[in-house]
Amino acid sequence: MDPSHAAALASLLGDGARVLTQPELVEQLSRDFYWYSPVLRKQLDGKVGDLVVQPLSAAEIQSVLGYCHAHNVAVTVRGAGTGNYGQAVPLQGGVVLDLARMDRIETIQPEGVAVCEPGVRLGVLENEARKSGWELRCYPSTIVKATVGGFLGGGSGGIGSVAHGNLRDFATVRALEVVTMEAEPRLLRHEGEAVHDILHAWGTNGVITRIWLALAPAVQWSQCAVAFDSFDAAFDFSELIANQKQWIKRLVTTFEWPIPSFFTPVTQYAPKGKALIFFLIASGQLAALEAAARESGGAASYAGVYLGLRTRPLLSDYTWNHTTLWAMKTDEAYTYLQCAFDPATAREQLRKLKDRFGQEILFHTEFWKNGEGQMIPGAIPLVYYTTEERLNEMIDFCREIGVFVANPHVNNVEGGGRYRADNVQLLAKRRYDPKGLLNPGKMATFEPETAATGAAAK
Ligand code: FAD
Repeated sequence: MDPSHAAALASLLGDGARVLTQPELVEQLSRDFYWYSPVLRKQLDGKVGDLVVQPLSAAEIQSVLGYCHAHNVAVTVRGAGTGNYGQAVPLQGGVVLDLARMDRIETIQPEGVAVCEPGVRLGVLENEARKSGWELRCYPSTIVKATVGGFLGGGSGGIGSVAHGNLRDFATVRALEVVTMEAEPRLLRHEGEAVHDILHAWGTNGVITRIWLALAPAVQWSQCAVAFDSFDAAFDFSELIANQKQWIKRLVTTFEWPIPSFFTPVTQYAPKGKALIFFLIASGQLAALEAAARESGGAASYAGVYLGLRTRPLLSDYTWNHTTLWAMKTDEAYTYLQCAFDPATAREQLRKLKDRFGQEILFHTEFWKNGEGQMIPGAIPLVYYTTEERLNEMIDFCREIGVFVANPHVNNVEGGGRYRADNVQLLAKRRYDPKGLLNPGKMATFEPETAATGAAAK
């Protein structure tokens, strides 16, 4: 990249300290958790931006994008860089647009909608919302570090999804503002259905600068770990609690042994050889849950009140994709898949996978509600990685037996399994980034505007 761009961008912002060029900082802010995947590790190691820009406002983002558009400089947006498919890794150098400093919570509206900037950490928003009787509907297990903008750009759901669905469901994202990548970047508001043009587009079709996020009434939660002799029994009980409407729950996570043995700080709650379930349950229902578990042959190995994100132990730190992290700490050969089982035939699907792959696949299920209100036995199973061929064989087999796979070993929006069939993300990219400068390479079906025609290619 032409070195004069750094000085020009610094002068645009009127603050050279917010244009970072030190190689170690640029490298650090070009990385995310792509190394979770041995396949992506090979593809993305060594990919870095040329410099980092840290804007403070939508107006500054408009100036930066206008400049980059004029000079054909690629721009990759970054929240906290906790995405695990290399979403925030710049493939073609250029500017890393680090939004961590745009971290203002404007208001928590009385009807339970938070209005905030994209760099707000989800954990900060959760704490703030609770002060006025609200909490996040769903959040990733990276809540402490991850940003609201990054969750909208690259996340899907997590803790809370068992009650409120994923981020894209039930109008959780009420509205957003987005800056376009054009000669004169526009600041546009998307609301209602139109938020889906931008959600989970990996920052390829606009920079989200303001968000209206619907919250849920706050609940006093308790945590509980329940052990069962077999995974089948644990799965049965977790499915029962997930499905029965009377239980007020935020988390229902089930682990096959030996996964609980990987959770080194809490192995005292993981009886040897047993399957384990982690719950977040309304405090008023904790005793009833323990009793129900006993009746089903389980035994609580831990129970305690949840006092916010500083609670120790914090059971959610071992759930969703944190499970994979603990496994990788034990043995680097572990990686993962993201699956959704069929509620009607999940047991049969699980059995077929076990028969075929044995200990190469270890079950870790997460229940969530889909957009139609149906409870889905989702899963982020651990996979003992040997070769890419074997991993693909497992993915193909899952699909053959009707298990949905959002493949976390590909580095484009379409391949990841959460691309919308109605193409709205691609259509928005054609409108808002016709030159294809936003996070280039990550929307595989997009073809940039051709110099010859000046029009976006079909
Ligand atoms: P980043 O990684 O910085 O960005 C993610 C994507 O969004 C990138 O493509 C980026 O370009 C784009 N983006 C960022 N900000 C904007 C913006 N303002 N406008 C437009 N695009 C933008 N995810 C889940 O959904 N659920 C989980 O439970 C979960 N658990 C995880 C556990 C671990 C241990 C790890 C490593 C990851 C996990 N993830 C999970 C993935 C990730 O943490 C979340 O999706 C998180 O919300 C990403 O936020 P971030 O700020 O780190 O985003």
